[in-house]
Amino acid sequence: MADYTTQICIVGAGPTGLAAAVQAAEDGADVLVIDKAAAVGGAANMGMGPLGIGTKYQKRDMQDITVEKAFDMIMTYTHYMVDARVVKRYFDKYFPQAEPTWHIVKTDQGIGPRAASFMNKALYAHAQELGVEFLLETPAKKLIKEDGAVTGVIATTKDGKDITIEAKAVIVCTGGAGGNPEFIKKETGWDFGKNMFNFAIPGIMGDGLKMMWEAGVDKLPVRIEQAANFEGIDELPQAIPNVMLQPNLLVNSHGKRFMNEDYMQNATFLSNAVGQQKDAVGFSIVDSSIVKYYIRNGVDNVSLVRPDPDVSGFMDGIKQAQETGNEGIIVADTIEELAEKAGIDVDNLVDTVDEYNDYCDSVDEEFFKQKRYLRPITKAPFYCAKVRPGGYGTVGGVRINENCECCDSEFEPIPGLYSAGADACNFYNDSYMFLLPGNSMGWSVNSGRIAGMEAAEFVADDDEDDE
Ligand SMILES: Cc1cc2nc3c(=O)[nH]c(=O)nc-3n(C[C@H](O)[C@H](O)[C@H](O)COP(=O)(O)OP(=O)(O)OC[C@H]3O[C@@H](n4cnc5c(N)ncnc54)[C@H](O)[C@@H]3O)c2cc1C
Repeated sequence: MADYTTQICIVGAGPTGLAAAVQAAEDGADVLVIDKAAAVGGAANMGMGPLGIGTKYQKRDMQDITVEKAFDMIMTYTHYMVDARVVKRYFDKYFPQAEPTWHIVKTDQGIGPRAASFMNKALYAHAQELGVEFLLETPAKKLIKEDGAVTGVIATTKDGKDITIEAKAVIVCTGGAGGNPEFIKKETGWDFGKNMFNFAIPGIMGDGLKMMWEAGVDKLPVRIEQAANFEGIDELPQAIPNVMLQPNLLVNSHGKRFMNEDYMQNATFLSNAVGQQKDAVGFSIVDSSIVKYYIRNGVDNVSLVRPDPDVSGFMDGIKQAQETGNEGIIVADTIEELAEKAGIDVDNLVDTVDEYNDYCDSVDEEFFKQKRYLRPITKAPFYCAKVRPGGYGTVGGVRINENCECCDSEFEPIPGLYSAGADACNFYNDSYMFLLPGNSMGWSVNSGRIAGMEAAEFVADDDEDDE
């Protein structure tokens, strides 16, 4: 006999699972949510907010981003290699160069990292008001399948006891596998800590993907949701990335430039570009004049991810990096010394810096960088930060249709099984679509709602059939 019986069991209480729970409960279903963590919210507790289109805030600021435009942007960006019906439903159902789509959640302390945890708290509270039951510290380990349909979940309690949850529909949204280096290596080829520096949220291990594949869901590529990172940055003050992410000189280990630095603020483009270089590393270089200029006048580009553009702590950060032997930050009195310490080809870097400084007096003939970002590298000491491919985690892995129904290799839905959020996010093709910021959590919340709505309809139809 089952330990729990419900109409819909949701596996994972990140933004996807929470949105699915609220939607399904609002549509009249009995819902039970299980999560392996002790708190709800998943990786999104680290984030700031989801995408929105046609919202009152955009209208107030006269921002003209429409569903049609967003749909067209995704399809063009991915060369039509993704399911247009899924993309269409994502944008169409709920939402009347980087577009102003990111809606940072309002908190009691202003905006900033972790603001989205307030959205999760609100969804959690609302789900509980609607009667949704939550079992935390209860990891799912297997989907139950009978006569071709998914009819429940086997999970483990915090006391280590296996329990059976009987359900008419199951929605799996376990957030991908960003915390599982072995899984990432096997499925994507990236090597955590060697050429990939992703966020690696604990507990996000690919459980749901494995369970769904085992239940016969068609396997699609799992990809890193690329967002470049600085090596060794976690221990240093924010002033260091605030300076080193500015569009100054970026070279590879051959000492050559490899992109127009204007695009460095696009974390996906930067991560992809760095990932194509030898040893998957880039070097962002500034000189003392540039640092002084930023300390006096502020930085060129302020990122919403780092809403505090303060750079006054840069020198303290450099001192700290030197004292702790941080290998991601290099300081030198000459370009030759900088190249040697960083492992960059010395002669090439000297030539590149000469050439770059000439461009600063005329135009960037190499990559057509905007004149206003061209500042020469002339005054010692010189500073360099290692840029590495990184990511928010993984995306994709299971085939779904526009109803978030999981499909087999014949593209046929497996009755009773739904997936959404990062596990089912196949619509970026090979690269996270950063031109519509907030797109990741936006997909989670929206696809969660679609899955909740569809599953509620499925169980209601099933009940009618039983009568
Ligand atoms: C630092 C950081 C900042 C970010 N900022 C933003 C942002 O501002 N905007 C944006 O759009 N996106 C952002 N993202 C991405 C966004 O957070 C994710 O896309 C989103 O959280 C994915 O939602 P999800 O519900 O699919 O998965 P998750 O949020 O990862 O939640 C998955 C849940 O499943 C649970 N789980 C896992 N395995 C099991 C199991 N076996 N049984 C039961 N439960 C299980 C986990 O404990 C977790 O609670 C950010 C990500 C990171 C890491």
